Amino acid sequence: MYKKVDSEILAQLRAIVGGENVIVDGEALEPYTHDETVGLRADPEVVVKVETTEQVSRIMKLADRELIPVVPRAGGQGLSGGAVATCGGIILSVEKMNRILEIDRDNLMVTVEPGVITGDLHRAVEAEGLFYPPDPASLDSCCIGGNIAEGAGGPRAVKYGTTKDYACGLEAVLPNGEVFQAGGKLVKDVTGYSLLQLLIGSEGTLAVVTKIIFRLLPLPKLRVDLLVPYDNFGAAAKTVSDIIKRRVVPTAIEFMERDIVQACEALTEERAPYRDAAAQLLITIDGNHQEQIDADMETVAEVCLDNGALDVLVARDRPTRDRLWKARRLIIEAINHACPINHMEDVVVPRSQIPELLEGMEQIAAQHDVRIWNFGHTGDGNVHVTILKDDLDEDTWTAVVPPVREAIYELALSMGGQLTAEHGIGATRREYLTMALGETQVEMMRRIKQAFDPHKILNPAKILP
Ligand SMILES: Cc1cc2nc3c(=O)[nH]c(=O)nc-3n(C[C@H](O)[C@H](O)[C@H](O)COP(=O)(O)OP(=O)(O)OC[C@H]3O[C@@H](n4cnc5c(N)ncnc54)[C@H](O)[C@@H]3O)c2cc1C
Repeated sequence: MYKKVDSEILAQLRAIVGGENVIVDGEALEPYTHDETVGLRADPEVVVKVETTEQVSRIMKLADRELIPVVPRAGGQGLSGGAVATCGGIILSVEKMNRILEIDRDNLMVTVEPGVITGDLHRAVEAEGLFYPPDPASLDSCCIGGNIAEGAGGPRAVKYGTTKDYACGLEAVLPNGEVFQAGGKLVKDVTGYSLLQLLIGSEGTLAVVTKIIFRLLPLPKLRVDLLVPYDNFGAAAKTVSDIIKRRVVPTAIEFMERDIVQACEALTEERAPYRDAAAQLLITIDGNHQEQIDADMETVAEVCLDNGALDVLVARDRPTRDRLWKARRLIIEAINHACPINHMEDVVVPRSQIPELLEGMEQIAAQHDVRIWNFGHTGDGNVHVTILKDDLDEDTWTAVVPPVREAIYELALSMGGQLTAEHGIGATRREYLTMALGETQVEMMRRIKQAFDPHKILNPAKILP
């Protein structure tokens, strides 16, 4: 149903963005054939690097008229294939729209373009004593545009929430090229349906986001990190729900099991403390008053030790904290290094159900005779369940992944959970959307898509089955 990108279309694209921003050459296209989803690749016909909203608008008008698919792309760090051109067409890269336009100290707001790297935004606002909390582990490579489109979270979501809790306004381009603004530098705004919130997590299927306004917080003055090893997997999981029951909300509660700790060691060639412990929790507490931090730390340590923790290691200084978090941020790379063919899930359950979820994963692994590694943002009820191919032959691997995925989803759904907390549906989970949401909701979503994109040119074959 789609038209191919021919020489005439290429000439029009060059006229809009300049020849140097239109890539058709094989080698230069390669980085755009995939994101970070293992095993998913597709060739775009052309990559176009945009620098202004007007260019985005003109490209969308052209694509809509000619019926050419357009896939928005930011950092290419996605884990569900959202930025992969599975139907060919144009990859519209916002990587050059990377300016922090304004830090508004009076309103505690920042205005950015979608190609700003998330870590750069952190550093820029922190230099002013301000704080943008969402911190996906990929923060030094992913961009704000991708964070908005995926509704990205990160370790600090336990206390501070996710991208959707900070976006107050945005500018976006519809598939027909029309530009609109939703929200603004407003802390409160209920004027009509919230198209702002609808676009967050829409995975580039409804509009191309070209500008975003985020609210900021004052930067917390103090922070401490705890590394807590356990010789029992279940006890570590139970600690997570027990901490919340004690009404302490740490900034982050991350979980990783032994094999993952050792995979990180292998990658970084740095020895990890308590490397043989069955599981470890990495817990952050932040705030502005030492007494409050000490009180929270005491309660958390007590809960950990009551649950059989082997130790509670306290990292107060920056270098020690950075070392612990460096390993945590490298987990996905370490897993890919240890087992290059794997399949990662992103299920979420009410956080009190984390022990049952992790126990269930052990049973699923045993039933299907596969290895499963677990890690993730357990303080949010979010676990990245990863199925490993190991030395299974190709046919066995292809046959085993779908039933294991279904078992994982069924377990999470039976606990009141969902398929994905932060990585999105994208290209890799769309066939399971109806299982998760039911036909009524999926049909409502199809109608929303139709209203935004009647010609189905914007990121087709994503999210909706
Ligand atoms: C090592 C690693 C760790 C990770 N840790 C986390 C984590 O802790 N938390 C988390 O939430 N995710 C995590 N992720 C997943 C990923 O980094 C996030 O989904 C991130 O938000 C993707 O941003 P990106 O800029 O790379 O987006 P891309 O991969 O380029 O795109 C992602 C989606 O956004 C759409 N999109 C991009 N730009 C725009 C735009 N301007 N307008 C409209 N749509 C657009 C694309 O079409 C695509 O559907 C991790 C990934 C890796 C590789």
